[in-house]
Formats: sequence, structure tokens, C-alpha cells
Amino acid sequence: MRTTVASASVTESAAAPMTTPKLQECRDCGQVQVVPAMPPGSRALCLRCDAVLRHTRHHPLVLPAALNLSALILFGVAGTLTVMSVSVTGQHRAASLFSGPAELAYYGFWGLSVVVLITTFAAPLARVLCMLTVLAGLCMKRPPTELRAIFAWVERLRPWSMIEIYMLGLYVAYVRLSAVAPVDLGPALYALGGLIGITVLADVSLDPQAVWEAMQPPNRRRARTREVFLDIGAASDAADRPRIGCDTCGMVSRAAQGTPCPRCGCLLRDRKPKSIERTWAYALAALILYIPANTYPVLTVIRFGAGTRSTILGGVRELIDYGMWPLAALVFFASIAVPVLKLIGLSILLISTQTGSVRRLRDRTILYRIVDAIGRWSMIDIFMESILVALVRFGTIRSVYPGPGALAFAAVVILTMLAARSFDPRLMWDNARPPPVPAGTRTDEIAA
Ligand SMILES: [Zn+2]
Ligand SMILES: [Zn+2]
Repeated sequence: MRTTVASASVTESAAAPMTTPKLQECRDCGQVQVVPAMPPGSRALCLRCDAVLRHTRHHPLVLPAALNLSALILFGVAGTLTVMSVSVTGQHRAASLFSGPAELAYYGFWGLSVVVLITTFAAPLARVLCMLTVLAGLCMKRPPTELRAIFAWVERLRPWSMIEIYMLGLYVAYVRLSAVAPVDLGPALYALGGLIGITVLADVSLDPQAVWEAMQPPNRRRARTREVFLDIGAASDAADRPRIGCDTCGMVSRAAQGTPCPRCGCLLRDRKPKSIERTWAYALAALILYIPANTYPVLTVIRFGAGTRSTILGGVRELIDYGMWPLAALVFFASIAVPVLKLIGLSILLISTQTGSVRRLRDRTILYRIVDAIGRWSMIDIFMESILVALVRFGTIRSVYPGPGALAFAAVVILTMLAARSFDPRLMWDNARPPPVPAGTRTDEIAA
């Protein structure tokens, strides 16, 4: 295996260099490259696939701390007050963030209840708390080493924090409900709206590499200021080992595979273990469950004693009947089209990787990024259902009960998300030749 080291391209927006140049592996294509010294507010792009390797910020620690603290306060408001309330024939019913999971558990849908609770409350709250713990810990003279494991969780929890999708699910529920009964929006809804904005800002203002560098053990930090490339070959007995990039913090070292990363302590792996096999397994399981997810009812609606069962497609048809074409198109796309497109996309990625194709690698990497990003949006229907089940409980006059299709559908969404996360896009690039190195760049070729 030959590894070429070259400089990533940097788009600068300020004058004085701030960061130390260092080696980093691109998580999308596996290219090891030097991320040069960067001023605040600039981006380093992978020279092979254009992935963002680093985006430096003007206040990489203070601003995220302030924003996460605000997010914690908004969580308190969103978790304790009413999200939405509805009145039917003089009876009033209000729902909070926990009403949906509580009602789903009441009807025996424990799995669905746990999924909704984790994605709308536990995961986003845990992310905020982890982030605050790390940023507070960095203020200490000697930051505890446990901070590294806590910060690793901030990134792991990211795809499972779905407040913005929950908000869209609430909107669809609001539209469906307001067609038949008066609906009032509660203060928790506005807190959730603020929370989404603040969480996005907190993520955007954070430079994860700055946090990892601040948490680096002191002896290695001193070594790196003396010699930029010291961290790749400090130990003489490790000099012949191939470089390995850390999946968690991005640091490149010559540590052995299966040993802890010198910076973040997570186990080093050249590629995700059994990536192709696990991705196929998750994708096929999702494909099988897609059938009951669309044929079994996701909801049973009782109107004056008579029950109507509704599938996902039935829900879309109902929105069309109300004249809500854009919303019907959104739900159709998110719930019916996205899982299918995602499975087709994953199959293309898997087959092209297994056949060793080196064609259109950049396009296939973009396809991978899209597949990884869109899958979670299919949860709209599950969140909409959880709020309808919580709000519409007026006995035989009008009630909504969850159906078994919802459980299968939630499983499809989670399995396709796991499939995308199991796939290692670097495998696609492994058959390709390294890119030509820009003139005047310090390079270092190793035969391993
Ligand atoms: Zn790349
Ligand atoms: Zn690491």
C-alpha cells in the first residue's frame, strides 16, 4: 500500500495563521494529507474528494459553550411545558414532549416509545450535556482524560438527535388536526423552535479539531510544537508501520491497528470492520421490513365509534383530500420515496465497491453523503403519529391509536441509518491511484 501525503486546499478569510499544520486523514476518501496552518474562519478541503477537513472558527470554545448553555435552558422549557393542545366537543387535551412516548408505551408499543424518547429528548439533551462537560473541563488546568471519551459521544449522538425532524412531524400533525378540531400551540413549541436554531449555531461555531487539540495529552502537545511531523513517527520501532487515521478525532499516527489512538483513546481501525457485509445485512433487513411498514396500518382513527385504519400512503391521501398538496408531497417523499432511494443508493455503492470500480468516485462519494444525510428525515411520520396518539384521546367520539405498521416503519428508518453508517466510503477509493501532488508541497511517500 502506498500512501501519498499532500496539502489540503485552504480557503482563507483572515490574515494571521493560528493553527499548527498537521496530518489528517479524510474520512470520506482515506487520503492522508497535511492540513496547513489556518487563520480563524477558513476551511481546508480534501484535495481528492472536496470533503471539509477542518473549518476554523473565531471563538471555537467560548461561543459553543454559551450556545449550549442556552440550549440547556430551552430544553428545560421544552420538557416541562405544553407543546400543543386540542379541543373536541368541549373536552380539552394537552400534550408535552413526553406525552407521545408515554401513550405509545401505554398501548404496548414500547420499542416505538423508546425510539421517540431517545431521538427527541435523550440524545439531543445528552449531546448538549456532553458538550458542556467537555468545554467546562477544558477550563481546568489539567483537563481530565475522561473528557476525550465524552467528546467522542458528541459526534456519535449527532445523527440520533432529531429535534428538527420532530418539529416537522409536529407541523404535519398540526395541519391534520386543525382540519377537524381547534388546535392551540403551546410555549414548548416555541422553545423547541429556538432550540433547533441554537443547536445548529452551536454545531456551526464549533471547531472539533480545536477541542481535540486542547484535550491532547501535554507531552504530545509539546512535541508537536517542536516538530509538526513528530506525531507520525515519534517512536523509532513504529517508523516502519503504515500510517493510520483515527475515525473519531482524525489524527494520523503510526500506532498499530487495534491499539488506542494517541490523542482520543478510541481504538484505531484501518477501515470499518466487515463494512460491506454489515451494510448488506442492514439494507436487506430494511428492505424486508419495508413491506409490512407500508401494508400494515400505522394509525387507527375512531370517529363516532367507527374505526378507520390508515397506512402511510393513506395519511398522504388524507393530506391531499384536505388540499395540502405541498405537505402531502413532503410526507410522500420522506416516508415512501426516501427509504427506497436510500436502499437503491446503498446498493449502487455496495456493488460498485465490490466490483472494484474506480469510475465516478467523486459522484459516488457525494451519493454516500446524501444517503447518510437524508435517511433520518423519514422519521417525520413516526413523530407525527406520536403527537396524534397523545392528543386525540376522546373515547368513541374521536381517538387515534398506533398500528403495527409504525413499528415496522421505525425499524426500516433505523436499519437504513445503520446501513449508511456501516458503509465505509474509503473502500471505494482504495482501488484508485493517489492524486498528483501540487507543486511546491512538502510530500512524503511511504511504501508499506
Ligand atoms: Zn477526501
Ligand atoms: Zn483519535
